[in-house]
Amino acid sequence: MRKKIIAANWKMNKVPMEAKDFAAELAPLCATPDVDVVFCVPHVMLCPVRKSTTPNGIGLGVQNMHFDEFGAYTGEISTPMLEHFGVTHAIIGHSERRQYFNETDEAINKKTKKAIAAGLIPIVCVGESLAQREANITIEHLRIQTKLAMVGISATDAEKIVIAYEPIWAIGTGVVATTQQAEEACASIRTVLAEIFDEPTAQKIRIQYGGSVTPDNAADLFAQPNIDGALVGGASLKLDFAKIVNYKG
Ligand code: PEP
Repeated sequence: MRKKIIAANWKMNKVPMEAKDFAAELAPLCATPDVDVVFCVPHVMLCPVRKSTTPNGIGLGVQNMHFDEFGAYTGEISTPMLEHFGVTHAIIGHSERRQYFNETDEAINKKTKKAIAAGLIPIVCVGESLAQREANITIEHLRIQTKLAMVGISATDAEKIVIAYEPIWAIGTGVVATTQQAEEACASIRTVLAEIFDEPTAQKIRIQYGGSVTPDNAADLFAQPNIDGALVGGASLKLDFAKIVNYKG
C-alpha cells in the first residue's frame, strides 16, 4: 500500500515574512501521519517556512536545483548549499521550467540523480501539452519523458522517486483532468516503470497527479488505484490546501 504524498508548489509567490506567517497557520492543519505532506517553496523562504514544517512533520522542498555542486552557473543553487536548510524534497523538471527555462530531459535526468545522491526525494514532473493530447500521443510522450528521466537510475534508487503526472493544459487553468484521464496516464507511467525496472519496483513508486487540484476534486482523484497524491499549485497558496491533505474528512 503506497502512502499518499501531497505536495504544495508555491511557485514564485509570497515574500518571506508572508510565507512565514502563512506556513505557521497552514502547517498545523496539515499535520497528519496518514499522508506525506511537503511544502515546496522559493529558496529564500526555506528558513522561515522550516520553523513550521519541521515541528509538524511536514517535508520541505525546493522547486529546482542544479545537478553540479559548484561552478560557473550564475543564479543557480546546488545541493550542498541546501544541506543546512532541512530540505527533504526537490521538484525536478516542472513543465514551467521545461517551457520557460529550456530544461532538457538530459538535465532533468542529471538533477534527479543528483537529488537522490544528496539524500533528497525528487518529485519528477512529466506531462503532455494540449496539442499532444489532441494528437493522441499522450501515452507515448509520457513514456519518452519517463524513460529519459530514469536513465542510469537503479531500481533501489527509483523506489525513492515520486513522479508527478501533470498535463500542461490542466496546470493553473482550472481545467482538471477527468479522473479517467488522470488514472489512465498514471497507470501508463507505472507500466513504463515496470518495463524500465520491474513490477515490484513500479508498484512502490508513488505517482502524483497535478493540475488544478482543489478540495472539491481531490478525493475522487485519490480514489484511483494509480494516483498516489497530488502536486498542487494554486490551491496550495491558501488554507484550502489543508482540505486537500485532509481529503478523507
Ligand atoms: C503545479 O504548479 O504543479 C500545478 C499543478 O498547479 P495548479 O494546481 O495551479 O494547476
